[in-house]
Amino acid sequence: MSVLACDRKGCSNIMCDRYSRRFKYICPSCFEELTEFLKCSGVENYKARLDIIEAFMESPKHDRKDTISAVAEFLNEEFPTEVVRHAR
Ligand SMILES: [Zn+2]
Repeated sequence: MSVLACDRKGCSNIMCDRYSRRFKYICPSCFEELTEFLKCSGVENYKARLDIIEAFMESPKHDRKDTISAVAEFLNEEFPTEVVRHAR
């Protein structure tokens, strides 16, 4: 028996306390990511939001730490601070 396992594809987190009748369990880390995902989508229509959540639950979970630091590195390159720019 699974112990309140997160129902997002590829996520192995357990002991989730959030549950949706539609989407089942979601762990805090996926929930946080979903919040960001939905916010960034700009979609306000109820049905369209459900579609987005469905797509999210089907999207494989990535190693968030790695993703975030990779993104931070990329953005630091693209938008260097004033100090960094002058040092170059
Ligand atoms: Zn999860």
